[in-house]
Amino acid sequence: MSKVVIIGCGNVGMSYAYSLLNQRTKVEELILIDLNKDRTIGEAMDLNHGLAFAPSKINIKAGEYSDCNNADIICICAGRNQEVGETRLDLIKKNYEVFKSIINEINKTNFKGIYLIATNPVDIMSLITMKLSKFPSSKVIGSGTMLDTARLRYLIGEKLDVNPKNVHAYVIGEHGDSEFVPWSSAIVGLRSVNEYMSKEDLNKIASDVRNAAYQIINKKGATYYGIGMCLTRITNAILDNDKSILTVSVYDEKQDLYYGMPAVVDKKGIREIIYLKLTDEERNKLDNSIEILKKIRNSYE
Ligand code: NAD
Repeated sequence: MSKVVIIGCGNVGMSYAYSLLNQRTKVEELILIDLNKDRTIGEAMDLNHGLAFAPSKINIKAGEYSDCNNADIICICAGRNQEVGETRLDLIKKNYEVFKSIINEINKTNFKGIYLIATNPVDIMSLITMKLSKFPSSKVIGSGTMLDTARLRYLIGEKLDVNPKNVHAYVIGEHGDSEFVPWSSAIVGLRSVNEYMSKEDLNKIASDVRNAAYQIINKKGATYYGIGMCLTRITNAILDNDKSILTVSVYDEKQDLYYGMPAVVDKKGIREIIYLKLTDEERNKLDNSIEILKKIRNSYE
């Protein structure tokens, strides 16, 4: 039986839950945990009332940390969003405390599954999870630049009027301002994207991808449906053992950092990281992203 526990049932956690309910997945049991227990009870009731129309039966309930014991996946979406007047560093310090309290509880259980992390800054929170849980890096996966990559594929697809499924392009590095698109390995169908679009077009698309979250937050306060579907996609890759290549946040042992890179995801987690062949300019951009993440890593404790 496949069991998923969601910790943090706000906008992101519940968009993930709703997306799981609406897709045919292998999830048979879904547990909701949040500081706000009443909310999880209400959310479980609400989701259960949609079961009659769902593609498969899922046993959904508000739960406790003891429910983590035999879970296949624990997805952490708990934490704070940046508030007006608050620095990024303030946010990290607060989310570090949140993660310490959560992972401390999970460490008391017999959980041996896979951690899936969505809380921002996702690369740093994934590293923190790996260290606090003492899990192997293959079993701690951050959502990384997966949402950014989905936005990139959508925008290229729109521009060329082709299905985003035929666009093989990735956003890599930090999930944040220093992320970038290594255009030298971007392909549409069987041809390089450079054959179809000018440098200006490519720059405009990369900048639109980078600014998408800011734009959405300006207009509706938060982003959550897209990330909910990304988390479902990663969940399916794990539970179906489908060996998909996804741009998730993965551990680079040399740098002692997590950041977004394409990786093969299977039932054991990260099977293999695919290090792209980068041009000198792209290598500099990745180094810049790594330096930014290092500075954050060195400041949160
Ligand atoms: P939200 O405020 O709606 O929900 C956060 C939830 O976490 C709340 O329900 C809160 O009660 C809960 N929580 C806080 N501390 C907790 C604890 N110690 N234990 C259990 N639950 C706790 O926020 P949201 O919009 O759902 O965003 C959640 C996180 O996801 C944020 O960090 C946000 O930046 C991030 N996010 C990531 C991506 C991505 O691409 N990775 C995209 C969107 C949002």
